[in-house]
Amino acid sequence: AKNGGKNQYRFYSNHMKIEINESILVEAELREALNHQELSIHYQPLYDAGTSTLRGFEALMRWNSTKLGHVFPDKFIPVLEQTGLIIPYGEWVFREACLENKRYQVKTGARTIMSINISPIQFKDIHFIKNITSILQEVDLAPEFVEIEITESILIDQFDSIVEKLKELRALGVRIALDDFGTGFSSLSYLRKLPIDTLKIDKSFIDDILIEHHPRMIIASIVSMAHEMKLEVVAEGVETKEQVQYLTKHNCDTLQGYYFAKPQLFELLEEKLGV
Ligand code: C2E
Ligand code: CA
Ligand code: CA
Ligand code: CA
Repeated sequence: AKNGGKNQYRFYSNHMKIEINESILVEAELREALNHQELSIHYQPLYDAGTSTLRGFEALMRWNSTKLGHVFPDKFIPVLEQTGLIIPYGEWVFREACLENKRYQVKTGARTIMSINISPIQFKDIHFIKNITSILQEVDLAPEFVEIEITESILIDQFDSIVEKLKELRALGVRIALDDFGTGFSSLSYLRKLPIDTLKIDKSFIDDILIEHHPRMIIASIVSMAHEMKLEVVAEGVETKEQVQYLTKHNCDTLQGYYFAKPQLFELLEEKLGV
């Protein structure tokens, strides 16, 4: 038994070493990525469930590394966060996404909303509000056309000061969405205290629709509760017609997913939209 313990220890320490080496490599490559234009932003459209009108876009960061190949956000965003690089890179995404939305609005006259994911590290940065205010001015985009997506993880500590900051952002006119709803420590009591505009139901619930005997009431009750709180409900990860029909029938406001379009370069998306 003692021996087994030793082996197990060795296994874990080797495993950890690999993980650490990997993240050092990822970090080193990431520091160069922006200079070498290895990072890009893909955009996915969101549609009104009832009318199929384009509601706007979500900006999603992409990294195609010359050394590491295509790296998924789930792998490199945590490294950006650990190293603080998420602050300049996040600001870059924010500016680029606002610019694309402004250009799109000028070109088409549509009142599209750009949704941008904000890491807790960015959100808690003392310059965050000042920075986005100046970017919005610089780009000349009205704040109502920007939606900041935050996750429940942001609320774990300093709940009151986070709420204050959300209020400040909303006073500015920026929209706030709670992303990945249902995956965290979701409690309806705290939801009522949050100054937000939109609830994005996590993909795992949307996947459940396809299961034959799925707990069908879950989506219906999230939607009715959210509507009672005057929140817009977005379903993400919609992949099939059956899901579209189900979500539309249950009064979901907005739909997003591969069924409509995969995230892609803005140029290509525009082409697809016939713009
Ligand atoms: P998220 O914000 O929940 O984004 C939705 C994810 O679902 C995206 O993955 C998107 O490509 C994927 N998706 C959309 N529709 C479908 C579908 O129909 N089926 C399936 N299977 N997937 C779908 P992605 O692009 O890999 O991003 C993963 C996560 O990385 C995001 O999750 C977000 O938390 C984070 N992320 C991405 N870009 C940024 C960024 O610029 N800043 C920050 N802070 N986080 C980002
Ligand atoms: Ca998101
Ligand atoms: Ca999400
Ligand atoms: Ca997610």
